[in-house]
Amino acid sequence: MNNNSHRLGTKFIHAGTVPDPSTGAIMTPIYQTSTYVQQAPGVNLGYEYARSQNPTRKALEDALAVIENGKHGLAFGSGVAATDAVIKLLNPGDEVIAANDMYGGTYRLFTKIFEKYGIKFIYVDTTDIENIRKAVTAKTKLIWIETPTNPLMNITDIKGAAQISKQAGAWLCVDNTFASPYLQNPLDLGADIVMHSATKYLGGHSDVIQGALIINDDALRAQLYFIQKSCGAVPGPMDCFLVLRGIKTLHVRMKQHCENGVAVAHFLRNHPKVERVYWCGFEDHPNYNIAKEQMRGFGGMMSFVLKDASMEAANKVLTSTKLFALAESLGGVESLINHPATMTHASIPREERIKNGLADGLIRLSVGIEDAEDLIEDLRVAIEAS
Ligand SMILES: *Cc1c(COP(=O)(O)O)cnc(C)c1O
Repeated sequence: MNNNSHRLGTKFIHAGTVPDPSTGAIMTPIYQTSTYVQQAPGVNLGYEYARSQNPTRKALEDALAVIENGKHGLAFGSGVAATDAVIKLLNPGDEVIAANDMYGGTYRLFTKIFEKYGIKFIYVDTTDIENIRKAVTAKTKLIWIETPTNPLMNITDIKGAAQISKQAGAWLCVDNTFASPYLQNPLDLGADIVMHSATKYLGGHSDVIQGALIINDDALRAQLYFIQKSCGAVPGPMDCFLVLRGIKTLHVRMKQHCENGVAVAHFLRNHPKVERVYWCGFEDHPNYNIAKEQMRGFGGMMSFVLKDASMEAANKVLTSTKLFALAESLGGVESLINHPATMTHASIPREERIKNGLADGLIRLSVGIEDAEDLIEDLRVAIEAS
């Protein structure tokens, strides 16, 4: 039932899944198989070998396409494996314009793995799209943005970036992990590729590592599928089943993430010991108008710094919360607290980090879907102990 005209909740529940043809099972079975028996050499049912095709993965990939309003979905063994596949579209000498504030693992993949193959990455502040325009050269093949960004919640104008990429003859890829397809659909705004760490909101239960790409263009899909099967970073069927199941409740979870996000962001902002809260739902956020235009809500991700900017004070908060668990990752039903400088973003050199506004004392929250009052009380006690 892949009807793109359905409303969000209906789409998330029905996307990609049809009753299993052999039994009528309402949930797509976990096809735990490596190969498929052929009737005669080269005569098969469309499935030859599980690196290339798997029915559970196929159901998930169809679902991914539906929920991002795209034509094709591709699932990968992790978010970074999905990113890796996109960069493998390029050739030595090609240039990528990338955001200077993004997931640390993306930055590490670009600088530590792909630079040595002769691909050049130019990092700019993409919150002002004129910086993207100025960085375009005849060699620009890809523009890579993340919005909202991890962890500073900066917003980039997707439509504006898409206009620049079209003029430049380059692809625009948007890492949509933080927003999830419930809040934002970059393909509708002109992006060529949407990337997800499905580990986060799509899976939603902190029990799987997975990545996704969604595209409209048939030729681009063919190139990415070729990379997926040739390089082999495919997810197993059990993991595909988990993400497929996660997607069915994305809209109910996201509604609660958004509601709790509003409550926690305002609590933090009004706390006398808090210096600044980074959350794109505040009307005085520098790109609030763009966020409001391209997103349906503001989610549960936010960061903050204390007035006492010392590492000791931040550490006190990070180790004092009882409900917010100190852990990397985000987007699960349970709340997490994280210290980007030593955890998720430790792979970015300190100098680079500070230059981009990511302070040593910055604390990031993934606000879960528990009761907001309990989350606020947990933070209040921890902040007062700092
Ligand atoms: C986690 C994350 C990634 C990487 O995904 P993995 O599933 O951990 O490989 C990429 N981008 C963002 C924004 C993320 O939060």
